[in-house]
Amino acid sequence: MATLKAVRGTRDLLPPETALWNRIEATARAVFARYNFGEIRTPVFEDTSLFSRGVGEETDIVSKEMYTWEDRARAQSEKPQSLTLRPENTAGVVRAYIEHKLGETGQLQKLYYIGPQFRRERPQKGRYRQFSQIGAEVIGPPSAGSESPLRDAEVLEMLATLLDELGITGWTLDINSVGSSGDRARYNETLRQALIPLPPKMCEDCQRRAVTNPLRVLDCKVPEDQPIIETLPKIADSLDEASKSHFAAVLAALDAAGVPYTRNHRLVRGLDYYTRTTFEFTHGGLGAQNALLGGGRYDGLSEAIGGPKAPGIGFAMGEDRLVLTLQALEAARPEKSDAYIAPLGEAMNPPALALARELRRTGLSVELGDGTFRLKKSFYAADRIARRIVILGEDELKSGILTVKDFSTGIQTRVPRAELAAMLKVPSGQ
Ligand code: AMP
Repeated sequence: MATLKAVRGTRDLLPPETALWNRIEATARAVFARYNFGEIRTPVFEDTSLFSRGVGEETDIVSKEMYTWEDRARAQSEKPQSLTLRPENTAGVVRAYIEHKLGETGQLQKLYYIGPQFRRERPQKGRYRQFSQIGAEVIGPPSAGSESPLRDAEVLEMLATLLDELGITGWTLDINSVGSSGDRARYNETLRQALIPLPPKMCEDCQRRAVTNPLRVLDCKVPEDQPIIETLPKIADSLDEASKSHFAAVLAALDAAGVPYTRNHRLVRGLDYYTRTTFEFTHGGLGAQNALLGGGRYDGLSEAIGGPKAPGIGFAMGEDRLVLTLQALEAARPEKSDAYIAPLGEAMNPPALALARELRRTGLSVELGDGTFRLKKSFYAADRIARRIVILGEDELKSGILTVKDFSTGIQTRVPRAELAAMLKVPSGQ
């Protein structure tokens, strides 16, 4: 029988890499808490129309990447329904905002999520069919200040802080404004006109986009098309006064906070719901799939899916890519345990468990060996997974003085049991 494997584009995450995932999530939760964000968990599947209406029929995600199926009715009272594994989480969050009438609180809602998303993309390094996003949204009625450019700048400043605290250095923030939906419609028309004579010289995708969704031409990565795209009109010239001043205020707040950015006229992003500010953080260490995260403002999304006016701004970071970046930066050496306890002989196993319990209760991470191991084997095993080894034989048990070896210095010391936990908490090599 053929062996079963994880489906193409999906993968198992194993230790020690999962420790890095956990560290990333813990750091993200801690940073979100400091900015007063609360966690939201929405279902992994939703009614298909949420995404076709919310994300946009014309986007690559909706037109070719969704996992959609007809869900059969199980009872007379049920109707068959088209369901889709969520390809992103913003639409789900906004659906929940509407469903639970969160706007009626009159407060800004600051929500974050961590979880799997699903897109039928061509898998490659950094691009998977099941991947995890860490994202956040600030959404609320205009009276709560949800349209303020300060919200955009604060989200970006939070992201800069989060990446710094994760140890991700060398990121680049690209930022642009795609204006209001009116500005975008005007720009789309300007682009459409400008593109009339050009497509025959461009790639097939661009030829199609020039007609269906001219804005998407700016996403094209085909090298031969780049000089042509550079000559196209810029969206900045189609913005109305309100969008221009919003963008200027976002940039002024970023300048004041010292968050570095680059203005990128071509950053229009893959989702149709964006308005005004759009942004992307990239990292050179990632290769072709270099986007760490993307986001923007979506002032019309709630109304597009049948809700009240609820402007908002949010982002989604690719957790898989944070992991890859940290691994590339070598900031991710697997953490070793604080100590490995080596019982000398099987009779020492029970007191060794008692000692492990004593040390673990103080917060130390402890590996427990086995009394059937010879000392040489214990040392070999301990050296690979722990910073120090603690030897527990009959003499040590009786005298209450334990032998400890620090692997980074090779120094062996004798430590009274009462002082052992404190000693093991000192970083090794000291
Ligand atoms: P998007 O929802 O398309 O704006 O993507 C936001 C972020 O999610 C991107 O910057 C990537 O870091 C990550 N991402 C998107 N698609 C994938 C994928 N197929 N595999 C891994 N990460 C992804």
